[in-house]
Amino acid sequence: MFEGELEGELPEGIDGEVVLCRDKRGRLIGSGFFNSKSKLVWRRCAPGKVEFTRETLEKQLLRAFKLRNVFQQSGRGEVIRLVWSDSDGLPGLIIDRYDSWLVVQTLTLGIDRWLDDIVQICREQLNPERILCRNDAPVREKEGLSGSVGVLYGEGEPSGKWVDVHGIRMWIDWKAGHKTGLYLDQVEQYGKIAAYAKGLRVLDAFSNEGGFGLACARAGATEVTCVDSSAPALAAAAKNAEENDLSLKLQEANVFDYFSASRSEQWDLIILDPPPFAPNKRSLTGALRGYKELNLRAFQSLSDGGILATYTCSHHVSSEMYLKLLQDAAVDAGVEVRLLEQCFQPLDHPVILGFPESEYLRGYVLEVRR
Ligand code: SAH
Repeated sequence: MFEGELEGELPEGIDGEVVLCRDKRGRLIGSGFFNSKSKLVWRRCAPGKVEFTRETLEKQLLRAFKLRNVFQQSGRGEVIRLVWSDSDGLPGLIIDRYDSWLVVQTLTLGIDRWLDDIVQICREQLNPERILCRNDAPVREKEGLSGSVGVLYGEGEPSGKWVDVHGIRMWIDWKAGHKTGLYLDQVEQYGKIAAYAKGLRVLDAFSNEGGFGLACARAGATEVTCVDSSAPALAAAAKNAEENDLSLKLQEANVFDYFSASRSEQWDLIILDPPPFAPNKRSLTGALRGYKELNLRAFQSLSDGGILATYTCSHHVSSEMYLKLLQDAAVDAGVEVRLLEQCFQPLDHPVILGFPESEYLRGYVLEVRR
């Protein structure tokens, strides 16, 4: 919560501690990490009164791990976000599992203090081969923390590791890759969209390391083009393609420019997975314009019967807003659109009902008819 949302004066000298708070209307809102240096001065870890001890930490971690057991049942493998910050009652803590490796981020002062205990509990409970620390996120600065990347547990310091993602081998560059090495929130979608891809000409726009594109190529797409503005991301996609003996066409470009420059191209399946255009409310109007433009270009470039898988990871863009801009874009493109599937963030990124910001990822699979 922001300063203005809490009752009374901000306390002094307790940065990093867990305190019970009330909102402006005097209602008890629970116990959470406090940090007067951060814009988000208070972040909840429990609805009631808790002393945050090692026991509390262990309990919250075990709950988070248990929830992810569902993935084992569904054959998702071992590439999972084990702990997702506020949504697991551990504000600022990220733990991603890449098979026998764990990559940890502590992004609040409150949780950073517990890093040694977190490592110990993870070792006891999960017996990982390695625990790595990816604490170079700029948000740490706002908490008054410095950056550090390195090994917390395990021998040596390898640069990365191959993991199995829905039958595709992907290289995890835990040090330099986006986030902790992979967009774990989209992994489930790779398989879902690949199911449409057989025999189709596919464009994976905002491809990053090629997760969608590779899954489509494996599923029998006739041709897959990945477009991204980041050369390192495309180099990673090339490495992944080679490892899997799959072929990708790689284009380093701004996706908007790419669509303009390739007006004569037609695709049967387009994936649009851009970065958040609306990271805050202020940027909403521009973001809606950007999303509409992007989807319009995609509709114009799809063959009759073509499929568009389009995603937004902007919390501020609601489902209603997105569906409306899709319909506006469809009208402008002169196409009729069928909504085949609605997609949502996976269960290793759980939404807290009283914390709307935790809901951010939406996707729509559409069929386009001319
Ligand atoms: N689909 C990817 C995740 C995409 S994240 C996956 O599953 O891994 C967004 C990607 O868009 C990043 O790789 C970033 O480099 C790229 N990007 C951001 N703005 C872009 C633009 N205007 N044109 C092309 N790529 C862009």
